[in-house]
Amino acid sequence: MSTSRTVDVAIVGGGVIGSATTLYLSMRGFSCKLFEQREFGWGASGATAGVVGPLWHVPHTHEAAMALGLSSLREFPRLNEALADTGVSTGFRQSGILNIARTEADAQTLREGLTWQGELGLGVCWVDGEEVSELEQHVAPGALGGVYSPREGFVHGLSFVRAMVSAAATVYGARLAEGVEVGGLITEGGRVVGVQSSEGRLYADHVVLAAGPWSGLAGRWLPQALPVRPAKGQRLLLRKPGFMPSMPVRDYGRYVMPQPDGSILVAATRHEGEFDNRVSADAVGELLADAGRAFPLLRDAEFAGAIARVRPASPDGLPIIGPVPGWEGLILASGHDSAGVMLAPGTAQLVTDYLVSGDAAPLGPFGLSRFDTDGAKGRPPRS
Ligand SMILES: Cc1cc2nc3c(=O)[nH]c(=O)nc-3n(C[C@H](O)[C@H](O)[C@H](O)COP(=O)(O)OP(=O)(O)OC[C@H]3O[C@@H](n4cnc5c(N)ncnc54)[C@H](O)[C@@H]3O)c2cc1C
Repeated sequence: MSTSRTVDVAIVGGGVIGSATTLYLSMRGFSCKLFEQREFGWGASGATAGVVGPLWHVPHTHEAAMALGLSSLREFPRLNEALADTGVSTGFRQSGILNIARTEADAQTLREGLTWQGELGLGVCWVDGEEVSELEQHVAPGALGGVYSPREGFVHGLSFVRAMVSAAATVYGARLAEGVEVGGLITEGGRVVGVQSSEGRLYADHVVLAAGPWSGLAGRWLPQALPVRPAKGQRLLLRKPGFMPSMPVRDYGRYVMPQPDGSILVAATRHEGEFDNRVSADAVGELLADAGRAFPLLRDAEFAGAIARVRPASPDGLPIIGPVPGWEGLILASGHDSAGVMLAPGTAQLVTDYLVSGDAAPLGPFGLSRFDTDGAKGRPPRS
């Protein structure tokens, strides 16, 4: 206890957002210490489906969010290569994503999306029912068609976190505190100057709060609430010798997708408002049923496990990235909801650019000030 040391930046939370932020800041020469209360990737980041598909999960009408999604998408192959050079695999594959239409209404929604997706120069195109079967041989018959997006793909969430943490520490000198809980902020005259952890006090010029859904609870450390709330999600793994989808396939509202270890991932469910890591029988039943509807040969697949974790949701579904007004030195990077993995590189870049330049303007669209100042729109639970 009571070690008193100093770094440029203390980062709270070892999920994709905290890990990516630590890596990017370290690469720019900031001395960093990353705190994780359990194990790196223990939260949603290690349970994620890992779809890297901003064209489906970021609202295209929000210019800044779309720019964040597209910059992250461009960054993934480069980041993956850089991390592979350090000897750690992320499981990233630019496999493409196939989104299938089963009804006329589905088809119309997908075609509407194509009007803007088609203009991005990313090769997104309509495929008819026959082409759907050519892309994914074992998909259930009867598809009206679909949209194929060749530049998107997926990453293995836990490997991605571990690769970033490992590179940040071994290549760029970041310090790691795994199994160390941050229990409060050190403040001086309205400025955040460090963190109080189970290891002791650490002084820092800046603190990045990237504690996933717990970022809302960390609002207890301040006189204002932070509008990040929990949204539980579950996914499962199957094994079917001789069968592996070649890319994430979205059908009947679920993703069925390959995994680097040869299993098949099916995702995801959503339940609002709870910190609850229990896998429920009804969620498993729903995911199994939909996987079997999309790929009938999965009906007798081996069940290889399921996991439940909690997403960090914000009142408007968009991430919150930027300084906390009234608390100089504190930066919030959370609320990424269902898109934290795919937005991690861009988020880390935004935070890093801000700390390098001091210019908060690019963070404006993601700022806390878009909500009520007392956090009323998204007041998190207090227990
Ligand atoms: C089933 C499921 C499927 C998903 N599918 C996708 C997908 O396909 N693509 C996508 O982009 N996103 C997906 N998501 C969402 C994505 O996983 C999340 O947005 C992302 O993981 C959030 O990352 P994070 O770093 O903000 O939070 P987390 O992963 O929750 O990390 C926060 C970390 O902070 C630590 N922490 C909290 N409080 C403290 C403290 N006081 N001191 C120290 N450490 C602390 C926690 O232990 C945790 O490890 C999915 C999520 C789920 C649950």
